[in-house]
Amino acid sequence: MADLSTKTCDECGSTYFAETSAMANLCPECAHRLYGYANYDHRLEDGQCLACGWDGSRSKLIARLISSFMPGPASPA
Ligand SMILES: [Zn+2]
Ligand SMILES: [Zn+2]
Repeated sequence: MADLSTKTCDECGSTYFAETSAMANLCPECAHRLYGYANYDHRLEDGQCLACGWDGSRSKLIARLISSFMPGPASPA
């Protein structure tokens, strides 16, 4: 493995690779949901994204944001 440093997201509590996020203390997913930064095309495998290290966690706030952006039928897993 390269020397990817792992950080913990302040919002969702997931770990992520520090280099993948534009925000100092947010994973790419939360940075995208909260601040509109480019998101990753997450590829979750064995409970962790191969691209950014995010573990799929979503805080209540993020979940609410997502559901308000996408009303209607249940969102895909
Ligand atoms: Zn996060
Ligand atoms: Zn990812």
